[in-house]
Amino acid sequence: MDFTLPADLREMQTHIRHFAIHDVEARAHEIEETNRVPPELIRQAAELGLFGLSIPEEYGGVGLGMLGRCAVYEALGQGHMGFGGMVSAHASIGTSGLVKLGTPEQKQKYLPRMASGECIAGFAITEPSSGSDAANIRTRAEKRGDTYILNGTKHYISNAPIAGLLTVIAITAPEKGSKGMSAFLVEPSMPGVSVGKIDEKMGQKGALSAEVIFDNAEVPAENLLGPLDLGYREALGILTNGRVGIAARSTGAMQRLLDLSVAHAQGREQFGQPISSFQAVQFMLAEMEVDIQTSRVLWQKVAWMVDQGQDVRRMASVAKYHATEALSRVADKAVQVAGGVGYMKDAPFERFYRDQRLLRIYEGTSEIQKLIIAGDLLRAR
Ligand SMILES: Cc1cc2nc3c(=O)[nH]c(=O)nc-3n(C[C@H](O)[C@H](O)[C@H](O)COP(=O)(O)OP(=O)(O)OC[C@H]3O[C@@H](n4cnc5c(N)ncnc54)[C@H](O)[C@@H]3O)c2cc1C
Repeated sequence: MDFTLPADLREMQTHIRHFAIHDVEARAHEIEETNRVPPELIRQAAELGLFGLSIPEEYGGVGLGMLGRCAVYEALGQGHMGFGGMVSAHASIGTSGLVKLGTPEQKQKYLPRMASGECIAGFAITEPSSGSDAANIRTRAEKRGDTYILNGTKHYISNAPIAGLLTVIAITAPEKGSKGMSAFLVEPSMPGVSVGKIDEKMGQKGALSAEVIFDNAEVPAENLLGPLDLGYREALGILTNGRVGIAARSTGAMQRLLDLSVAHAQGREQFGQPISSFQAVQFMLAEMEVDIQTSRVLWQKVAWMVDQGQDVRRMASVAKYHATEALSRVADKAVQVAGGVGYMKDAPFERFYRDQRLLRIYEGTSEIQKLIIAGDLLRAR
């Protein structure tokens, strides 16, 4: 087996890593203070192709496969996690439904502006009464003439406050249960759609989320994405690939935390010697490295499986569960290695510690990932 990434991907990874660690991190304080991503960073990200990672070249994107996208997500993960979250919510779950299920007309209408970063995308399934239990959403879409009328509320929707397009999952055939779900391409400017106030979060500043309310919202019938009554499994398929991306982003964040921890341990002296000479500190660094290597091998394997057209439902959950739990362990150790500095806002440890916590919750909590893994295991026997 050859785990070496192709040369062009390694080069792209190097550029994105440099952008994440230098350009994005240089604006981290500003993002934290204002809870906004500066427009110059959006422009730079667009020039680097970050908004068009999964969009085919014919629509102005970079057209990377899953392995390539995840290599970029890992590099991006080394910088401010709110910025990485905003980009990946767009490039991953915001875009993949349209790329996979869209008609040529739908793709032509939206993808070029999405690839250029002019139209930021998001994905909306979660509702106040159905988070983990996403099969029980209540948002209804009823056809009247050549329009679907949507009623319901989605919440915690990433990018909603800045989005030009949302892939919204709604019930079209209640009698079919979870098989009666469909996906719609919804512009927040469509009549009857409104976006609530920006959520106040623990971390991931700059990655804005909000409620999206549909009050007799009018969505043109031509904006139905994929077949009518697509079903829960297919709709959730949009999230499966997102989970692999989260595993890759987690790996990048871990790598950055380890690099910062090693530098700190070698530079900081106590008892007349660098703290890196203490075995207790070395063990923390070694455990961090084990978590990074295992997470990286996992996302690489699952991304490769996606590119081979294999069913990765179980393995995407394995990768997401492992990498996000590993990231929490690594973030905790990084704060410990740094000592008091790790708790202060002027070093990145504290920010990563807060920011990483979300990754064990969204796109399916760790518990839900374990239910998917076990359910699939048991079905297969
Ligand atoms: C900042 C942020 C951004 C988000 N972005 C998006 C987005 O862009 N689009 C979108 O659609 N959603 C988004 N979400 C929603 C996210 O996916 C949900 O919050 C998540 O799936 C968990 O749902 P919940 O919050 O309702 O928690 P709940 O489902 O209420 O879960 C609470 C706890 O119960 C556990 N639990 C629930 N059911 C079970 C079970 N059967 N067995 C064992 N344990 C269980 C959970 O694991 C968790 O620990 C976002 C959330 C946040 C916080």
